[in-house]
Amino acid sequence: MKRDFVPGQSVQKFGIGDKHGRVERSEDPFIAEEGMPETAVCPDCHARYEHKRWTLDEEVAGQLPREEGAARVLCPACRKIAGDYAEGIVILRGAYLWKHEEEIRHLIHNEETRARDKNPLQRIISMARQGDSLVIRTTEQKLAEHFGRAVHKAQQGDLRVSWDQGHVRCRVFWEREE
Ligand SMILES: [Zn+2]
Repeated sequence: MKRDFVPGQSVQKFGIGDKHGRVERSEDPFIAEEGMPETAVCPDCHARYEHKRWTLDEEVAGQLPREEGAARVLCPACRKIAGDYAEGIVILRGAYLWKHEEEIRHLIHNEETRARDKNPLQRIISMARQGDSLVIRTTEQKLAEHFGRAVHKAQQGDLRVSWDQGHVRCRVFWEREE
């Protein structure tokens, strides 16, 4: 069995500095308000930008054509997904995981739906088995932490949450053998 592979170790740096070499005020390089129109609609997920925040209303999401007047701007979550830029990484491991894989995947998807209702920028970029781990990559750090805590609460096991120095990335490890 391959043991030397550490999932998430190859997370790439994305263009964080802007073209003037300034540091963005926001810690999240994808949430720059500079240059944003008053209102906008994301053409991919249909989230709306208004009053300086993104929201998603499932009821009107399908009625995009009525908003012809709104600017089309890819929301930060869709940009992170397109650029494969993860701020959160959750690594789940252990024999128990694979015995309860379906249940745990279901839990993660449910938690994503709930988180997205509150904040459409909290999304899963990918969820896939890598070696003996199930790796979930998220657009926002808080979502990774949330997944870790939700799995821990529902399935016990051992949870470890680590943040990098600038609080830019969150890495969550959960393991349960039996
Ligand atoms: Zn979007």
